[in-house]
Amino acid sequence: MRVLIVEDDTEILRLLATALTSAGYAVDTAGDGEDGHHLGSTESYDSIILDLGLPKLDGLSILERWRKEGITTPVLILTARDSWTEKVKGLRAGADDYVAKPFQMEEVIARIEALIRRAKGIVNPVLTIGPLTLDTAQSTVFRDGRPIVMTPLEYRLTAYMMMRHGAVISKTEITEHIYDQSFDCDSNVIEVLINRLRKKIGAEVIETRRGQGYVLAL
Ligand code: CA
Repeated sequence: MRVLIVEDDTEILRLLATALTSAGYAVDTAGDGEDGHHLGSTESYDSIILDLGLPKLDGLSILERWRKEGITTPVLILTARDSWTEKVKGLRAGADDYVAKPFQMEEVIARIEALIRRAKGIVNPVLTIGPLTLDTAQSTVFRDGRPIVMTPLEYRLTAYMMMRHGAVISKTEITEHIYDQSFDCDSNVIEVLINRLRKKIGAEVIETRRGQGYVLAL
């Protein structure tokens, strides 16, 4: 899962990025409205955290532009503490949820998890498919009830594939959703990663569809 954070307060940005990275997400950041709008329009994210008060272009305008451009990525806005009007305007501009500042990091992460789940049509926070169980609150995957030790990349890939269960997922889609912007795309890297994951979750679990991508065979 890959998340964009648009926030001009460098300390809040750093804390959010650190917390989301340790929760298993690939994270991109933007420190002003123009950068944020551009990234959200051109890259693939599973969710976006958007501050409203931003230099160059304010959060509400960004949100309105994204929605007009047809970008449906779930957006969590960061609002001022007592401003109910900001919350209302944000939701009406197409935000999916909000958190008021100052916030608890755990609340933001729990809300992001819920937004991503809902956007992928998943109701239960613990997702079980065949022998595999994904617990996003613990950032852990279990096989037959036993936790599997994974690198952050392996976890992101497994979580993404489980949430897209039934779909054939191309290498490009995998690259876009498990790496941050700095990653230089090379399809061999994905093959190596898939093979490493097969050793951990079972070779039969990930099926290769030649020329198309991969599918969870569960
Ligand atoms: Ca701000």
